[in-house]
Amino acid sequence: MTTVGILGGGQLARMMALAGAPLGLRFLVMDTVADACAGQFAPLLVGDYRDEAALAEFASKVDVATFDFENVPAESAEWLAARIPVFPNPRALATAQDRMVEKTLFRELGIPVPDFADVPDRAALDVAMARVGTPCILKTRRLGYDGKGQFRIKSSTDADAAWAALGEQAGTVGLILEAFVPFERELSVVAVRGRDGEFRTWPLTENWHVDGVLSASLAPAVVDDALRDAAHAHARALAERLDYVGVFALELFLRDGTLLANELAPRVHNSGHWTIEGAETSQFENHLRAVLGLPLGATRMLGHACMLNWIGELPAATAVLREPGGHWHDYGKSPRAGRKVGHATLRADDAAALAAALALAGEGLGRCEQVAPVLSALASG
Ligand code: AMP
Repeated sequence: MTTVGILGGGQLARMMALAGAPLGLRFLVMDTVADACAGQFAPLLVGDYRDEAALAEFASKVDVATFDFENVPAESAEWLAARIPVFPNPRALATAQDRMVEKTLFRELGIPVPDFADVPDRAALDVAMARVGTPCILKTRRLGYDGKGQFRIKSSTDADAAWAALGEQAGTVGLILEAFVPFERELSVVAVRGRDGEFRTWPLTENWHVDGVLSASLAPAVVDDALRDAAHAHARALAERLDYVGVFALELFLRDGTLLANELAPRVHNSGHWTIEGAETSQFENHLRAVLGLPLGATRMLGHACMLNWIGELPAATAVLREPGGHWHDYGKSPRAGRKVGHATLRADDAAALAAALALAGEGLGRCEQVAPVLSALASG
């Protein structure tokens, strides 16, 4: 009997546990809160990630550890890795935790990135703005996610406001200034690398965000082969350099025919949720196969898929459930503004059928605005 330990007990851990059941796996989830939603399906250990006693208990009960949450302190990941196998490795985790380290690596690997500069203090912000130009975005180097810890700077007169908003974090989580990319589209590549170095990617996904949070994903993205190949090559270069094991996502901006890397998510990713019904093997199952050293499953798509995220509260499921390719995921969380509480995936054999299902479901859900950009992308293909 193999027990997989997961640090972080949110919906990603929950979907991992669901994917692991047919493989006969047991799970232990560790989270800082007692109502973490993965706890509805797997034993939950409540504790602080920095608490050695809690980590020791976790380590004693699992065969291998992985993450649903990328901001587990890198020292805690290292502490665990000295005792049990931990995938992805702590160095990969630490790289992805720090936007400055991450973007420096992208550049080193020849992966294009928006111009960026470290901002250790107020004076450095002026220097960085002169170099990077405006508009630009001031972001925390660490612990930012879903658009949190960011300030958009439109012109040089915004510098003081940006500093007032984030300046005090310069000495704790650090700050980075990035050029604002007026991108045409946002894409992501979800990839998996096994313990033996085998590497696979799912088809490229196009994503739409609202207020910095993912709203919808479409797979396969309507892009030409050259772009797809470039995205896959970037993901492979990263995975090999980091000796990465497991699933990760590389988020990309498309601007003037060039892909610019935004960030690396060292875990299963929201833009890969469609793989549960839309691919031969889901990201969750392949992540487990990878960390356990099992053969990876095929990543080919089963037709076309669109995922819609439910933020704050769930709409009524009926409009999705009555579609032949409609699938519902309720994360078992209580509603709260800004919180990811569920998603739906619509799958169809071809793009036209997906568009028809999406239009119907969007209307029934009262979410026409949310599905509109996906319908436009499908129409452009
Ligand atoms: P992040 O937390 O860095 O993934 O940012 C969340 C979202 O903000 C991204 O998905 C983009 O929609 C937007 N964003 C972040 N960085 C940039 C940038 N440099 N230029 C334009 N938009 C950005």
